[in-house]
Amino acid sequence: MPSTRKPGPVSDKLPAFFYRLPPHAQRCYLESDSITRYQFVPDASVARSVAGLTRVLAKGNPTDTEHAARAVATEMCRLAGVAGLAVDVREVRPKNTRGELHGLFYPSDPRKGTLPRIVLWMRTAERREVVKPRTFVRTLMHELVHYFDYSVLKLDDSFHTHGFFARESFLVRTTIAPQEPPETEGPALLRAWLDRHGRDTDR
Ligand SMILES: [Zn+2]
Repeated sequence: MPSTRKPGPVSDKLPAFFYRLPPHAQRCYLESDSITRYQFVPDASVARSVAGLTRVLAKGNPTDTEHAARAVATEMCRLAGVAGLAVDVREVRPKNTRGELHGLFYPSDPRKGTLPRIVLWMRTAERREVVKPRTFVRTLMHELVHYFDYSVLKLDDSFHTHGFFARESFLVRTTIAPQEPPETEGPALLRAWLDRHGRDTDR
């Protein structure tokens, strides 16, 4: 599906690692950076599935949350016109010295015969509290943007560019009810970290 493309990157300032990438990867990075939204706009059916996910998440049951997250992913893939993917929801986030892992995207691997897959965690590492709904939805959308980088935009790689985060925000903004409180943790913090360090941490 075509997407909105603007001439030139969203940000003039490129991270240091960009200059160490081979030329084809630099082209891929710049292309990702230049795309700030998709041509599809999430419809009422998607919004309902997202509202359902935030309701179910609050109850703290991983199986029900997984079903609801799969429903959102199915709706999003339908809208984008691409094949669906697997979504697994797990309980307590893994943690390392960099912080807590919120989600992961695994591209399909033709050699192993594996399909694309998203893994999401629904409880914080320290206090084991259910993640805030908007944070959880943003993490799901973040991982879907990785999937759409390959399946919709046909990019060879999926970089955390400013365009990438603009696409993530586009999906959150257009699917989540406006009364949801803003997130105080999650990918927003990853974004801040990436701005400082300039490279992926979560995939
Ligand atoms: Zn990511």
